[in-house]
Amino acid sequence: MTQPRREEVDKIIRKLRERQKSLLEEVRGELDQRDNQQLIELMGREPGDSGDVSLADALADMNILRADRQIHELRDIDAAFARMKAENFGICTDCGDEIPVGRLLVYPTAKRCMACQQRHEQLFAQEGRPKL
Ligand SMILES: [Zn+2]
Repeated sequence: MTQPRREEVDKIIRKLRERQKSLLEEVRGELDQRDNQQLIELMGREPGDSGDVSLADALADMNILRADRQIHELRDIDAAFARMKAENFGICTDCGDEIPVGRLLVYPTAKRCMACQQRHEQLFAQEGRPKL
């Protein structure tokens, strides 16, 4: 099995980190009125290098209800970094085929190939949730 080329993965990692950063900025906006010492500490860490505790989990523990959407997306980003670590990034979780690099560049948190994603969305169609 072929992995996406190194430079493409680097590009994807950059995109994930940028997205993670802007999501954290949004969450920080939600926290403006609160004691956000814990979040500041979390944000001081290198994204994607958060050790055992994922950023999204830590944020979820902080009970920021209004940041639900961001937390959901941060979990997807965490999962993408975890797949990179496990060296199965870019492999469809449903059929095991490679996800085309072009799709990953547009949608770096994709965990399924296009065909499986479409099938998944038909099976688990959720109303009112914006698609990426
Ligand atoms: Zn698939």
